[in-house]
Amino acid sequence: MRTRRIPAPVLCVLLAMWGCAMWAAGCGVRPPMLGGDEAPMVAGRAGIACQVAETQSEPPNPAGPRTIRLGHSVEGTPLVLHLFGRGDGGTLVIGGIHGDEPNGADVAQRLLEHLEAEPGARDGPPVAILPQANPDGLARGTRGNARGVDVNRNFPAANWRRLEPGHRYYGGRWPASEPETCAVLIAIRLTRPERIIAIHAISGGRHCNNFDGPAEDLARAMSALNGYPVVASLGPCHGSLGNWAGVDGGIPILTLELPRLLPGPDAWDQNRDALLEAIGLGRFIPVAR
Ligand SMILES: [Zn+2]
Repeated sequence: MRTRRIPAPVLCVLLAMWGCAMWAAGCGVRPPMLGGDEAPMVAGRAGIACQVAETQSEPPNPAGPRTIRLGHSVEGTPLVLHLFGRGDGGTLVIGGIHGDEPNGADVAQRLLEHLEAEPGARDGPPVAILPQANPDGLARGTRGNARGVDVNRNFPAANWRRLEPGHRYYGGRWPASEPETCAVLIAIRLTRPERIIAIHAISGGRHCNNFDGPAEDLARAMSALNGYPVVASLGPCHGSLGNWAGVDGGIPILTLELPRLLPGPDAWDQNRDALLEAIGLGRFIPVAR
């Protein structure tokens, strides 16, 4: 019986095409579809996915916000999302993605405490707050997480890129390889936000309202209240949340860059009105809904 053999050059081309497809399956991951009830499945190169490990929707304190446990950091600290208001959408506020920018986590925590004390917040516009997205980094005072990954370069954006461990912007072994990144992706899937505010800090007088995606109006509304300039781009930021959610996914996202050395209480005073405005509880300009 005669068997047909695939010529060697054709075999090489087929193997190369298969290799490219496998690579794309891991690295060219697109934002998960927003909507639907299933947990987000964000495939990495090893086929690992972000899944909702455990959730808890009962308020620990009946008078307080509902909470969802999104998972754990590398070193086991729970990553907890706090929910206010009614309905879907609204605003997702994230603090402390970079552990060496503690005033960002402090401002997110102060916003959370402000809403806990605000009688109208429980029935107001929907707001979800993840005050400490990188608790291990915050505990160590390091930019990255406990594995040295810059969580804000680990999102499965089209422009994610591979860098060597130890690099300041090391984005992990593959996109969404870190549990902290997964927690943010899960929070976005669960809350389906109309806008995202990520609170960071920056040195050299470059504090600003930086936006990605269709968030220029939001940046201008906040600028009117915190006095920070509106900035469209802070550089390529490969694999950042801004690129994944704003540029690739079309979700308005505002990266609030605080002055790096400004203590948390002062940063809160400077930004309280702008943040309340952004989440729809401000007293100044109605945020378009
Ligand atoms: Zn930062």
